[in-house]
Amino acid sequence: MKATEIFGSMVFGDAVMRAKLPKDAYKALKKTISEGTHLELDVANVVANAMKDWAVEKGATHFTHWFQPMTGITAEKHDAFISPTADGQIIMEFSGKELVRGEPDASSLPSGGLRATFEARGYTIWDTTSYAFIKDGTLCIPTAFCSYSGEALDKKTPLLRSMEAIDKQARRILKLFGNDRVKRVITTVGPEQEYFLIDKDMYLKRPDLVYTGRTLFGSRPPKGQEMEDHYFGTLKPRVSAFMRELEEELWKLGVLAKTKHNEVAPAQHELAPIFATTNIATDHNQLTMELMKSIANKHGLACLLHEKPFAGVNGNGKHNNWSISTDTGANLLEPGETPCENAQFLLFLVAVIKATDDYQDLIRLSAASAANDHRLGANEAPPAIISMFLGDELTGILEAIESGTAYQNSHKHDMEIGVTVLPHFPKDMTDRNRTSPFAFTGNKFEFRMLGSTFSVAGPNVVLNTAVAEILCQFADELEKSADFNTDLAKLIKKTFSEHKRIVFNGNNYSDEWVIEAENRGLSNLKTTVDALPEFTSKKSAELFTKHHVFSETEIHSRYEILMESYCKTLHIEALTMIDLTKREIIPALISYQNEIAKLPARKKSHGDFDTSLEDYLLGRIAKLSGCLLKKLARLEDVLLESKDKGEVLELAGFYRDKVFNGMSELRLVADELETIVGREFWPLPSYAEILYSVG
Ligand code: ADP
Ligand code: MG
Repeated sequence: MKATEIFGSMVFGDAVMRAKLPKDAYKALKKTISEGTHLELDVANVVANAMKDWAVEKGATHFTHWFQPMTGITAEKHDAFISPTADGQIIMEFSGKELVRGEPDASSLPSGGLRATFEARGYTIWDTTSYAFIKDGTLCIPTAFCSYSGEALDKKTPLLRSMEAIDKQARRILKLFGNDRVKRVITTVGPEQEYFLIDKDMYLKRPDLVYTGRTLFGSRPPKGQEMEDHYFGTLKPRVSAFMRELEEELWKLGVLAKTKHNEVAPAQHELAPIFATTNIATDHNQLTMELMKSIANKHGLACLLHEKPFAGVNGNGKHNNWSISTDTGANLLEPGETPCENAQFLLFLVAVIKATDDYQDLIRLSAASAANDHRLGANEAPPAIISMFLGDELTGILEAIESGTAYQNSHKHDMEIGVTVLPHFPKDMTDRNRTSPFAFTGNKFEFRMLGSTFSVAGPNVVLNTAVAEILCQFADELEKSADFNTDLAKLIKKTFSEHKRIVFNGNNYSDEWVIEAENRGLSNLKTTVDALPEFTSKKSAELFTKHHVFSETEIHSRYEILMESYCKTLHIEALTMIDLTKREIIPALISYQNEIAKLPARKKSHGDFDTSLEDYLLGRIAKLSGCLLKKLARLEDVLLESKDKGEVLELAGFYRDKVFNGMSELRLVADELETIVGREFWPLPSYAEILYSVG
């Protein structure tokens, strides 16, 4: 296998377009891609035909509009290219109309009330900025998905809108610095993806994993991650074979899978690609997650992407490395080579600082889900408090600017905006703060709160739009300025001074930080149910409508979908626990007790009358079983009670407080029983068996 040969071989990318399209069509398409211009139907016909020929050559028989509904995963509906001919044969056909627009019957996908089922029509519209590709013999066309009346029903549409917003505002700022050559400003993302690999047989023996993605029972293994011998350890052969195939398939799809390694927990791994434009990075991350699952399956493995598959063991996160770049290749969050670039960098930097402070609640809620609630604040992921890490040197520079004192950097230069060159901030492992939710790492920010199953679209919509808004405010102010340099310096100083409370370079996992953050007035929205209502706040509506990212209707529909999904997740988990308890655990307890109960008679026939072991075990099991039944009944009652809750916020609060507690209490007793009942009697593979199942 030659990486250079297979890379992008299944993508209708730029090189293929150039080779397969007539010059005019190629030019028109390129213009549409880079500038968003309308593509005429005759050109679309030419492109569609070339795409089809290329796909058929590669063995494809079908095409699909590939889209990202609010379920968080991707959706596709396949159509064959075939078209009948008069003589009873078929030819392969694909028209421009079919390429540009589709009409899936998507009435069962979540719309948060935006689309009553009688008005089920939704449209998929070709996203020319993300290349088409072939997967499983199907030509996949990345598309946006919206309702008949134009409301976004997917994750891609608002993301594209947010990218337009930041493009527009960032170019206003660049212009002020005399830079009007830049045609487009984009944000870039490199998502690091964590996951577990376990043996498929083990997986299938755990209905909780199958139905909910996480184990709902299980006492801790005698050996967990405390030896820290798994992190960066050598890869086991089966894992290595899986990773090789995954990389190969990703490369074929043009995904720049770059690093892979073992993570902290046993059976946990990570994959990171080289960063790309946010829109493409989002599509690629969806493909990565999908391929992880399907390729694991081929290798007799199961890939667990859930945020917390195992209690007491590190969960899965996703790190969203984010930066702002120009189409000319300049990273706007990279300190420059000249005093002017340096001043520009500082302005973008304080814009991000202000955006993070002003919109901390929205940033927080962009990482909220029932599954991620298990991680945030649980000593493995950052807490639910948003703060940002800048490192000592950069913080020192900003503090010096604020106080008007000279800053002596390592090169012994005094800092003065627009006069001095900034030092570079190397990505130094020793200086990095792994506990910060939002850390500056030399030339980008790493947003570390995301859960592993997340589409990166949501968090980036918030980051892009929040920063766009601050850049807009800055541009409004500076465009009026008569003395740019003086006003710029003032603005940087003022912004840092007003928003430095969001900067925290210390240990985010410590209890002291929670108190300190409260003193600083930062929010601490502990759970999804606390965080989501902020989405519908006035501030949120103003932000998103001003930049045409969400309409108020779209915000409300999304809020409903997210809250409902929270409730449904907990509901399914509770039902699964009840079912497992009744039909697996209780029968196992009976069998084990029966087995023990037979012992005294057998012993007696040998003249042994000591039944202390049996008495002890039966007594202990009887006691715990009684407790188990009580907790089971309690959880069932609580679930019934949930039926009386009307409004979605009230219902979600009920699930968080009552259902979640009921589940935890039931689990506690069952996990205790697991440690007493004989191994062959316990119906579920243990944590140790699962976590060490891959040889
Ligand atoms: P870590 O030390 O956090 O594990 P990695 O080196 O594994 O970091 O991952 C860093 C990620 O950041 C990679 O996906 C990389 O491509 C991405 N990255 C680097 N530069 C940028 C940038 N300018 N914009 C967005 N992402 C970037
Ligand atoms: Mg990272």
